[in-house]
Amino acid sequence: MAKVKLLTSKLQVHPQDLGVLVEVPFELPIGYQSLSVELIGDIPEDSVLDLGLADPNRVRGWSGGSRSSIFLSLYKATPGYLRGELPRGRWAVLLSPYEITRAFEVVVKIEGDLYCPHWLKSDLHVHSLHSDGCWDLCQLTERAKSAGLDLLALTDHNTISQNVEASGWGFFKNDVLLLPAMEWTTRKGHANVFGLCDPMPDWRVNDDEEFSLKMQEVKNRGALVSINHPYDDFAFGLKWDWSYEKVQFIEIWNGPWRSSSELARRAWEKALSAGVKLVALGGSDVHGPSDWVELGSPTTWLYTTLPGISGVLEALNKGAVYLTRDIDGVTLGDKATVPGSTNVDNIVTIDLKGLSKGQRVDVICDGQCFKSFLVDKTTLEVQVEVPIEFRYIRTEVYRYDETFDVWLPLLITNPIWRLGGGIEHE
Ligand SMILES: [Zn+2]
Ligand SMILES: [Zn+2]
Repeated sequence: MAKVKLLTSKLQVHPQDLGVLVEVPFELPIGYQSLSVELIGDIPEDSVLDLGLADPNRVRGWSGGSRSSIFLSLYKATPGYLRGELPRGRWAVLLSPYEITRAFEVVVKIEGDLYCPHWLKSDLHVHSLHSDGCWDLCQLTERAKSAGLDLLALTDHNTISQNVEASGWGFFKNDVLLLPAMEWTTRKGHANVFGLCDPMPDWRVNDDEEFSLKMQEVKNRGALVSINHPYDDFAFGLKWDWSYEKVQFIEIWNGPWRSSSELARRAWEKALSAGVKLVALGGSDVHGPSDWVELGSPTTWLYTTLPGISGVLEALNKGAVYLTRDIDGVTLGDKATVPGSTNVDNIVTIDLKGLSKGQRVDVICDGQCFKSFLVDKTTLEVQVEVPIEFRYIRTEVYRYDETFDVWLPLLITNPIWRLGGGIEHE
């Protein structure tokens, strides 16, 4: 966070201003996650100056003469004011003398915290007591916080009551951001629907036509749809048997890596090679204590340039996303070219940390392994030059598993597209 002074304004208040509502306007640029307003000055004891605040769309609160400062953020606010998104545009501090016997001077000081772009560590697939999970949202967020996660997507099956509960907390609990979601669970596959509290009033679909209509309706409302565990067939209805058309996101990594994950990874790579900008996601699909499934494994990393849920949705849409097996294992370093970046040339920076000797780094260009490095240190920073007409480039890190004689992934990035990435919305 970076503290920024937005306005300092000196005002003279006179007895003839009694009852007048004065606006002290200020411009709020995009990207602020909190705002504070302070009245500084010696207001005479027998005078009262009422205070309020308006954003570009509405009055955000009014504290009358009872306060001389206001704090507002995405998640908290001074009583009498509404927390939530801080829209860019013309704001105004509202001042009105309620009692005044003689003139006085007051300084209005407005400051804000500008969001610094960074990676959010998320689990985009979890279940709670709102469907077939064991933990309530308080327990789930406590566990997420101790695991080091910044964000959970509330993907309970075919219900939205988890989103209603989370909305009461401003989608923020135990320092964990909560993305409203639902796992649309049908007999022909499951899909996570992200970003809306109530994406569909009725989730039931009977045939391909109904499915297609519902999918379009949900997307038109602004939700992001990701098909889940598309190749799992160990239980009825898990495998994706609906059309892949209109799909924007695919969960290639669901809990522990297995052969169905590899099939999903290959299908995704095939789509990318054909120029389909499909964003790969991961999620633990945790339902409770388990020997196999762990909250935050895999971790989905989202590069956010805006605060709150807007930033999360923007990162998802851009494909500024990569996946790791562990929250504290192999990660991208600060210099790495961010997946989803636009207007890149044919030299990209691969920067990795947390590596171990014997691991393998693959640089994939247009569906083919372009370069492979056998790791001998804990970090790797290289510039890779690919053919000038490349379409996309991405990175994977593998470890060799001796027991099963197989290379298993530790990190998978989404592509850096030469001509820009991201979902193309209709
Ligand atoms: Zn599922
Ligand atoms: Zn699930």
